[in-house]
Amino acid sequence: MEKIRMTTPLVEMDGDEMTRIIWKMIKDILLTPYIDLKTEYYDLGLEHRNETNDQVTVDSAMATKKYGVAVKCATITPNAARVKEYHLKEMWKSPNGTIRALLDGTVFRKPILVKGITPYIPTWTKPITIARHAYGDIYKNTELRVTDGSKAELVVTDRDGKETRSLIHEFKGSDGIIQGIHNTDASIASFARSCFNYALDAKEDLWFATKDTISKTYDHRFKDIFAEIYEGEYQDKFKENGIEYFYTLIDDVIARVVRSSGGFIWACKNYDGDVMSDMLATAFGSLGLMTSVLVSPDGVYEYEAAHGTVTRHYYNYLKGEKTSTNPIATIFAWTGALKKRGELDNIPELTVFAQKLEQASVATMEAGIMDKNLALISTLENKQAVDTETFLSEINKTLTDLLSK
Ligand code: NAP
Ligand code: MG
Repeated sequence: MEKIRMTTPLVEMDGDEMTRIIWKMIKDILLTPYIDLKTEYYDLGLEHRNETNDQVTVDSAMATKKYGVAVKCATITPNAARVKEYHLKEMWKSPNGTIRALLDGTVFRKPILVKGITPYIPTWTKPITIARHAYGDIYKNTELRVTDGSKAELVVTDRDGKETRSLIHEFKGSDGIIQGIHNTDASIASFARSCFNYALDAKEDLWFATKDTISKTYDHRFKDIFAEIYEGEYQDKFKENGIEYFYTLIDDVIARVVRSSGGFIWACKNYDGDVMSDMLATAFGSLGLMTSVLVSPDGVYEYEAAHGTVTRHYYNYLKGEKTSTNPIATIFAWTGALKKRGELDNIPELTVFAQKLEQASVATMEAGIMDKNLALISTLENKQAVDTETFLSEINKTLTDLLSK
């Protein structure tokens, strides 16, 4: 079979620890035998980030803007222990945070559903994709403790020096607490456009909810910006694609999500997304099966696994032990990026190959072959926990079969 050719490079962001090992295995076993893989390579491994004073992270984000599609391996976000372990010059920031800020993007997380891993909510037969607005609100707050007898006010000074004041509370008979939060129209609009673009791409309905009945100015602004952008830019495209934008209250949406069968995108304000993405990941069963993509408002895509670098497995690997690590979410990061590249460059063979690799991955797990952690929760009877390399070569066998059909 002749290898599939690519025209535009994918931006490839390599990473750390166990996922860096898996990254190379995926390329060697599942990709380069079939594709004349064209990537622009950036090494986001912690050592190289340290050598380049983290410039490599910025460069990889700029390349993503240029080419439109990136695939990223999990990376270490350093803490004090990592600074010692890697002799770092500084406690470099989270690469994901840096890339997200430069691309002004929103992260969408979507679980891979397979037979044997049953969601805790049995009616969820299709995946629920969650999008979190990762700017502002309580994550950029200012808060104070207040003593009894104090008066707290909100004060805004405009460009011309004019003050607007609004009473928060007069503390009479008790000490207390206050908090100041903000968001910007620009950030909310970027979030909205990323969500509408993603929904069109996935051809799935978009749900959004806030508490605008209680927060009549703050949350209401989110509702209004989404509505204005939808009506002005997306309504017709949504109709053409047979999908809907649906707005409701946050408590109502929870009831609807629980009763649903899945198959939609759920856009969340920052705090709701923080809490609900952990709930969904657990309810769908496994972090090893959770995919993630960063989408910018101008339609740039960066694909990755939702899990981290699987440090504990890496230390076993370094001791020469065989690990049983799940490569599926990292494989789906590659297939997501390859499908997108195929679509943008009009290379249907590339898209079809990526779809078959996804099918082969799912079919292998449904035939009972999986990693140890998945085997612990799988309800399949004939399940077999295998090491990482065996898992990958079994997927390759299934893939070869599929491709020869
Ligand atoms: P983690 O790497 O996701 O792993 C946590 C645990 O979950 C693992 O020890 C393992 O459990 C299980 N697990 C996760 N992915 C798995 C897979 N593919 N196959 C099998 N088991 C899997 O999270 P962490 O240990 O909190 O973080 C490790 C490093 O990753 C940190 O340095 C953090 O900064 C980084 N991180 C990066 C990203 C990113 O780049 N997007 C995201 C999160 C964390 P058992 O040990 O019980 O087998
Ligand atoms: Mg959280």
